[in-house]
Amino acid sequence: MQYKIARRAASLSPSLTLAIDSKAKQMKAEGLDVVGFGAGEPDFDTPQHIKDAAVQALAAGFTKYTPSSGIPELRQAIADKFRRENGLEYKPSQIIVSCGGKHSCYNVILATCEEGDEVIIPAPYWLSYPEMVKLAGATPVVLSTTDRTEFKVTPDQLRAAITPRTRLFIFNSPSNPTGSVYTPEEIRALGDICVEKGVLIMSDEIYEHLLYDGAVHRSVASFSPAHQAHTIIVHGFAKAWSMTGWRLGFLAAPEPIAKAIDAIQSHSTSNPCSFAQKGAVAALTGPQDHLKSWLGEYAKRRTYAWQKLNSIPGITCVNSKGAFYLFPNISGTGLKSAEFCARLLEQEKVAAVPGIAFGADDYIRISYATGLANIEKGLDRLDSFVRGLKA
Ligand SMILES: *Cc1c(COP(=O)(O)O)cnc(C)c1O
Repeated sequence: MQYKIARRAASLSPSLTLAIDSKAKQMKAEGLDVVGFGAGEPDFDTPQHIKDAAVQALAAGFTKYTPSSGIPELRQAIADKFRRENGLEYKPSQIIVSCGGKHSCYNVILATCEEGDEVIIPAPYWLSYPEMVKLAGATPVVLSTTDRTEFKVTPDQLRAAITPRTRLFIFNSPSNPTGSVYTPEEIRALGDICVEKGVLIMSDEIYEHLLYDGAVHRSVASFSPAHQAHTIIVHGFAKAWSMTGWRLGFLAAPEPIAKAIDAIQSHSTSNPCSFAQKGAVAALTGPQDHLKSWLGEYAKRRTYAWQKLNSIPGITCVNSKGAFYLFPNISGTGLKSAEFCARLLEQEKVAAVPGIAFGADDYIRISYATGLANIEKGLDRLDSFVRGLKA
């Protein structure tokens, strides 16, 4: 039987980060001593009070369908979060809870983009953005950046890329995969251009709370009512509350867009998991002290890894200011990223993600969401791998 795969799916390749992570896990299961730098998730457990709230909800029989855009209590808690932390006023009707931040992104793109539309995506990008844009029938327009500008697009670059077909600008600060954090002034300059040109911004702020060296997060929506009217904020519980497996994300959008997304969601996934939403209410309204100790750990690992990477001949690395990734430049080793990572995994049992997955072939992504002992071991191996190339 010849199966015809629809064009929109046939051109997709599965997420390389998930693939490398599962390959590393499989090698581990086979008893091999693998060090995984591939993970896009915190190594800390979900805080206990969040789990307790979900368990209580389950025990109390909170196991049925909820409203498709989320329970009112959670949408209110999210609106309160935006007021408290970002100075932004949203009605609960502008908030949609989805099955993960990834799902929130996909909903936004499906609701706003179609055939003939262009979507501007700075590279290195989170690898799902261009695929989602293609699934919606629209065309990704990639703006390349390098470590020389800390992987930041300039206002001139953005302005030059905008055409009458530009529908959406996808912006992610703090960034996965680079860990870059734009300053408020830089964010405002990009936002101003989008407002002037009538381009919507999808601002993925899922790493908002993971910042180092005094870096600050500022939502592009917060500069003026016009900026807010041009912005859809995407966020989720995966990173700052370590709830990756719970599959809960959220977004805040202008009312007509929120309404369109509610309709899409009601016909595709219905509601996000009922009792997980009760856990999310506890995440937002409960104590946040876990974050301080996690950030302390991440900061130590980041400093160690950044120094170690820069001590390896052929590798240079700008320090990250947010998230839990470093994005070292490997061009001095003479290898491109896919071969580098394949050989590193084969020879030294170290899993890292090739930069080509993020649109940047001279780099690899190192996640430091893993213990310091692991980082030391893995980077020692990476060091001898690179030195072996020179020999
Ligand atoms: C992790 C992540 C998300 C959302 O992940 P979910 O697990 O779907 O909540 C969104 N954007 C970026 C850039 C991420 O790294």
